[in-house]
Amino acid sequence: MTHDQLLTAPETAFPTLRGAVAGLPSYVPGRRSAGLDIAALASNESHYEPLPAAAAAVTEAAGTMNRYPDSAAVELRERLARHLGVTVGEVAVGPGSVGVLQQIITGLCDAGDEVIFAWRSFEAYPILVELAGARPVRIPLDDAEGHNLGAMAAAVTDRTKVILLCTPNNPTGVPISHERIEVFLRSVRSDILVVIDEAYVEYAEAGSGPDSLSLYRQYPNVCILRTFSKAYGLAGLRVGYAVSAPAVAEGLRRTALPFSVSALAQKAAIASLDAGEAMESRVAAVKQERARMAAQLEAQGWKLQPSQGNFLWIRADDSLRARLVDAFDRADILVRGYQGDGVRITVADSASNDRVLRILETHAA
Ligand SMILES: *Cc1c(COP(=O)(O)O)cnc(C)c1O
Repeated sequence: MTHDQLLTAPETAFPTLRGAVAGLPSYVPGRRSAGLDIAALASNESHYEPLPAAAAAVTEAAGTMNRYPDSAAVELRERLARHLGVTVGEVAVGPGSVGVLQQIITGLCDAGDEVIFAWRSFEAYPILVELAGARPVRIPLDDAEGHNLGAMAAAVTDRTKVILLCTPNNPTGVPISHERIEVFLRSVRSDILVVIDEAYVEYAEAGSGPDSLSLYRQYPNVCILRTFSKAYGLAGLRVGYAVSAPAVAEGLRRTALPFSVSALAQKAAIASLDAGEAMESRVAAVKQERARMAAQLEAQGWKLQPSQGNFLWIRADDSLRARLVDAFDRADILVRGYQGDGVRITVADSASNDRVLRILETHAA
């Protein structure tokens, strides 16, 4: 029997995957940007080149790659603590905020424990939960593409360990207001960790989403999750962080894979925080493009919820979704289609955005 046949012949004695792993979706590689004309709008990355200060920090740190990085990431955590007005003990870092989220779920959930999140939301949520042997509890979004916090509170059981709130929500772009989260936190047991995933917080208009740090100060069971992958443009370096009560943060640091955040990533993240103004002016340009696209799409006849992220969300049945994804694909524009739900398109440079607008014009209602 060949190695391939063994994989598909489960009756043969052979190492088997855990059920939770066998049930996970296989990673489908996206089309790679083979040519210059491909617009990569499927992953909400920054289309800008790395911030010069970050690139310089990486070049400098490259000379130390024969050494393990500081596994406690002290310098980065100190810089973050200063940036956020918290203590070093309240900060945990990981390889992307997805990495930190895995630390959160494996740190808090035993097999069979429940993690509640809105759906549709970030694709990594159910995967990380199932990988940990915990149970994902998906609560459908409301009619305005936002979190249905009442239904999420009602879904709490004595097995609930973690609740994930994504604001602005990926892929719909809809934020959760400060007031609504506060009402929610008042109604949720204080032994449940409420994670506020703010991967796109830099792109949100002031006041549209929560003041998460003040919620955290008021409710110690809040955990804030942020990343350098999106607005800071470090997606390829893998670094994100959580702010949580020191006891939780200490647990997250313990569950981390040793040395999972490279010295290059740590140095680049510090340099990026120091270059906050350069990041903000890039974000301002994306927000301007987002507004321009929203206005044009409305004129074309599309009815979209305003997005607070660096992406647009088009609710679409499977027939429209397939037509749109196909049209974008033929135009060398990579977007993200979601079966049964719609299409998400990253807002990027104005030339790419114009190409998107031209495609959508031909499919408007
Ligand atoms: C992109 C994204 C992340 C961050 O991913 P990284 O692992 O930090 O690259 C986290 N949450 C949401 C909702 C995202 O869209």
